[in-house]
Amino acid sequence: MAHGDPLIEVRDLVKHFPITKGLIRAKQVGAVQAVDGVSFDIREGETLGLVGESGCGKSTTARLLTRLLDPTSGTIEFRGKDIASLSRKELKPFRRDMQMIFQDPYSSLNPRKTVGSIISEPFIIHEPSVGEKDRKCRVQELMEQVGLNPEHYNRLPHEFSGGQRQRIGVARAIALKPKLIVADEPVSALDVSIQAQILNLLRDLQRELGLTIVFIAHDLSVVRHMCDRIAVMYLGRVVELAGADELYNHPRHPYTGALLSAVPVPDPRLAKAKVRQVLTGDVPSPTNPPSACRFHTRCPKVVMGKCDVDDPALDPKEGGNLAACHFPLSDREVATQVPTAAA
Ligand code: SF4
Repeated sequence: MAHGDPLIEVRDLVKHFPITKGLIRAKQVGAVQAVDGVSFDIREGETLGLVGESGCGKSTTARLLTRLLDPTSGTIEFRGKDIASLSRKELKPFRRDMQMIFQDPYSSLNPRKTVGSIISEPFIIHEPSVGEKDRKCRVQELMEQVGLNPEHYNRLPHEFSGGQRQRIGVARAIALKPKLIVADEPVSALDVSIQAQILNLLRDLQRELGLTIVFIAHDLSVVRHMCDRIAVMYLGRVVELAGADELYNHPRHPYTGALLSAVPVPDPRLAKAKVRQVLTGDVPSPTNPPSACRFHTRCPKVVMGKCDVDDPALDPKEGGNLAACHFPLSDREVATQVPTAAA
């Protein structure tokens, strides 16, 4: 699919959560550097994947994009207007254009409200002049659009399965025909058999409604067929950004290579032929991240004296991928180490 101009331009986005101490928590003693200088564009109509291990900053980035969190610094231009510094009141007209789908369909729905009233909420907030009868009609149309039975309008969330509950979340998110949907691990709480149904639903809705989607996942195998481009995050930074096929077939950052090494491959002969890169150690603490290249404490290609001193920029590498690395993976390394790569 051809994609248009940038819908969102993110530049040098930073979110540090202060760590305080003292009786009234008045003294700041440090900060969790959840997002630290992230820049990327999201084009109209595309799906951008944000991928990385837990704690890499992808969910914080999602909440910053939709302004559920206030950034510490940086800009988020939505159709040319910087929304990063707008007040809650100034944000209201933008809110209807940016909706989120949350990971856990069990906790993101109010258990005491009927499905009808849950999906009605966006209309009540943003289109209060719409009468009750019209509203019910629109909600039932939405229920049908996402594959729910409109006759279940008065049922409570616990009367639905996990997949159906996520459909309720999707219906609520598309109610106002937003431009942007940020889906934060929308299938990771679901059974594998249900995941594909929700992914297909999102793809169908994207085509029908011309949606732009930011799709967050910790698992690279989920995003491959969903995303046009993928940004890989590590410890609050984007370390590689490329088209989905380029990223899978020719990863340049050693971290992306290691993540792809962990993706199961259905062909055992192909899997056996590759030398898997297994990441050792835990992700370092975002309160005290490693110097320069933050991956240098776990990187199989690290060159001390360079990688721990000189912070690599996110620059174009061979094949066009943007990668923040002084010694990116060569085609030969990719061919021998990455099971998903073309042999
Ligand atoms: Fe590894 Fe060095 Fe590249 Fe960082 S800059 S990813 S430590 S090779």
